[in-house]
Amino acid sequence: MTSHDTAAAGAGAAPTPVGTGTGVTAFADLLDQPLTRYVPGNSPRSTVALLEKELGITTVGQLLDHSPRRYIRRGKIQALTELVAGERTSFVARVESSSTRRMRSDPRRSLTDVTVADDTGASLKITFFNAYSAQKDLPVGSLALFTGKPEFYRGTLSMAGADYAPVEAPESLERSEDGELLPIPVYPETAKLTTPRIAKVVHQVLVTADLDSLADPLPPEVVAAEKLVPPGQAYRDLHRPESVAAYEAAQRRFRFQEAFVLQTELRRRRAEHAAHPVAPRPVVEDGLLARFDASLPFELTPRQREVGEQISAELAGTAPMNRLLQGDVGSGKTVVALRAMLQIVDAGGQAAMLAPTEVLATQHHEKITRALGPLAMPGRLGGDDHATEVTLLTGSMGATARRKALLDIASGAAGIVVGTHALIQEAVQFADLGLAVVDEQHRFGVEQRDALRDKAGTSPHTLVMTATPIPRTVAMTVFGDLDVSTLRELPGGRQPIETHVVGLAEHGPAWERRVWQLAAEHIANGHQVYVVAPKIGDDAAVPSFTSLRESLEADPEEPEPATVAWLEELVTARPELRGARVGVLHGRQDAQVKARTMADVAAGTVDVLVATTVIEVGVDVPNATLMVVVDPERFGISQLHQLRGRIGRGEHASTCLLVTRTLPEHPARTRLDAVAATTDGFELAEVDLRLRKEGDILGASQSGGRSGLRWVGVLRDEALVARARTAAEAVITEDPQLTAHPDLRVAIGRVLDEDRQAFLERG
Ligand code: ADP
Ligand code: MG
Repeated sequence: MTSHDTAAAGAGAAPTPVGTGTGVTAFADLLDQPLTRYVPGNSPRSTVALLEKELGITTVGQLLDHSPRRYIRRGKIQALTELVAGERTSFVARVESSSTRRMRSDPRRSLTDVTVADDTGASLKITFFNAYSAQKDLPVGSLALFTGKPEFYRGTLSMAGADYAPVEAPESLERSEDGELLPIPVYPETAKLTTPRIAKVVHQVLVTADLDSLADPLPPEVVAAEKLVPPGQAYRDLHRPESVAAYEAAQRRFRFQEAFVLQTELRRRRAEHAAHPVAPRPVVEDGLLARFDASLPFELTPRQREVGEQISAELAGTAPMNRLLQGDVGSGKTVVALRAMLQIVDAGGQAAMLAPTEVLATQHHEKITRALGPLAMPGRLGGDDHATEVTLLTGSMGATARRKALLDIASGAAGIVVGTHALIQEAVQFADLGLAVVDEQHRFGVEQRDALRDKAGTSPHTLVMTATPIPRTVAMTVFGDLDVSTLRELPGGRQPIETHVVGLAEHGPAWERRVWQLAAEHIANGHQVYVVAPKIGDDAAVPSFTSLRESLEADPEEPEPATVAWLEELVTARPELRGARVGVLHGRQDAQVKARTMADVAAGTVDVLVATTVIEVGVDVPNATLMVVVDPERFGISQLHQLRGRIGRGEHASTCLLVTRTLPEHPARTRLDAVAATTDGFELAEVDLRLRKEGDILGASQSGGRSGLRWVGVLRDEALVARARTAAEAVITEDPQLTAHPDLRVAIGRVLDEDRQAFLERG
């Protein structure tokens, strides 16, 4: 496993470099060359073979894009004092001594013990089994990059074997002109593919390939404005930097390039969408929209009006709208969406509202029907003469109701259709679908969009609503082909919600008594209280503890998660809450029971509702003013925020208590404190991003796969992405097909494998 060539060794038999003498090579020509052209020697154990097997790297471009994950760049050579037993590491050190001895078990073979040391005075013994090479390559006084795994042996750290790459010409390499130690790249490694092995192959490519001939996919004016280094130099400086500034400039080039290529593609798609015109649906005088506005019991907020006007203008035009409407729970998105739907109906079209679940679809249907009143009662007593049918279509409807719904949708009698996403996948025929409103974008992927296009013959206008605030950079990168509107403030004189973390582990039982007393006070004032548990639990297995605190004393380390079943008993038994009417709501109940309970809560005949997160969506009881979340550490930030959105919906001041049995130093406490510190969903979304890995956000939760972003950090690079977006816009406006930008087209093609195509079309 030892590499005995120096990293600086020549490439041996040099191939004919592609592009030599031709001036400029098309961007992809060089990068798509097979690695084997530049690095001969194809034994199954060769580094090239391993690169393919372990990292899937077969081309020059893939290798050059395998960028160092960090650089060794400290002022002193390396702190050997920081090595950890069992942890693979890379470090630079100088050979202090070297001695070769015969192996006791096999006297025909030799071992070489090399002791290396660094400026800290610490040293490490490395035993090499290929004595000959080690002796030759690592003379006393030489400097090398080592990679290996130190282990404890007889009480001291030592290493059995190591990959190494002598750092040649130490005098010149140690310090650059400005006195800085030259950075040494450390690659993402596998057990066999260590940094020195990768570095060696990279070096062979760097010296043989004509990188300076590499065409730049970025337009020259963008390169100039951003002061970017040329791509060939960037690759060189990434892998063999002469200074920290050099690799930083290289990283900046690739970061900007990635953002720009992505933004260009997103803009190109938008331009393409816009090129397929739809029927204009201008506002009609004295139509449903005007009548609905006249009947609204409240004033639209300035922002609702502003967003509404923008949407209205887009619906009146011929370019399909693609808009993301984001706003906190209760910020009034539904009203905005409903007004858009009414404009479409007024113009003779149909609007569909798609919800992620049947329960939500049913709730939307009820809400819309209620909000429209006479406007949703066509041909009925008391109905408006402009009224339209609001039709619900779900999978669990009876056959007769279903047939009627399908008929109304096909005939156009149903102006507004509410259903789950299945609505667009089933054999549903619309007379004239003009607008699709999608609630919650996360589950609305590329297939749904295609299906929607099929329904409408062309892309209908699309309005995607989300209550999960999306930080700006994510919106720009992931949803870059959507325009984004944001409702930031909550409408209508709502009282702010006060949130407190109640840590039962550090506070005495008095704090818990105070929680239940507060609940009693809210009830005494005629309000309702939600108590939320992370689990449903089993009536038969309810613990006998009559307080949360008691359960904690029984098992301070890892208390069982609280259940609805247990908290129902606990709440009922609490002396503070004697006489309170307790209801229960969770996902295992059937729909009728749930509906009845919710009606009771709304009617005020239930004082305390013990529930799971089923109340997270859709429950709207303005009279509920206290929420007690038990074991809140079991929820994510956005989930807690959504939950909390169930209170503070009326004109009364509301309180949310996060009652945790975790110890104060529990990592989840940071999350809880963040939720307590602000009710601004956007701020929380950013905290959430920061606390999780950025990759997780884009990767798992939003793209459903890998994010495709290698260089751009969604938090760090907001400004850069914004600039890339502006630059991309300018290019696409001038040249929508990128006819004059062949290398940019190629770069897009290289970046967008199938995964990413799907990723881009999400939303
Ligand atoms: P979202 O869909 O963003 O969660 P909704 O549209 O459901 O929010 O609005 C939440 C509540 O606020 C509803 O009861 C709605 O009628 C009410 N509401 C919406 N806009 C206003 C406004 N401008 N003034 C007062 N109340 C409003
Ligand atoms: Mg809503």
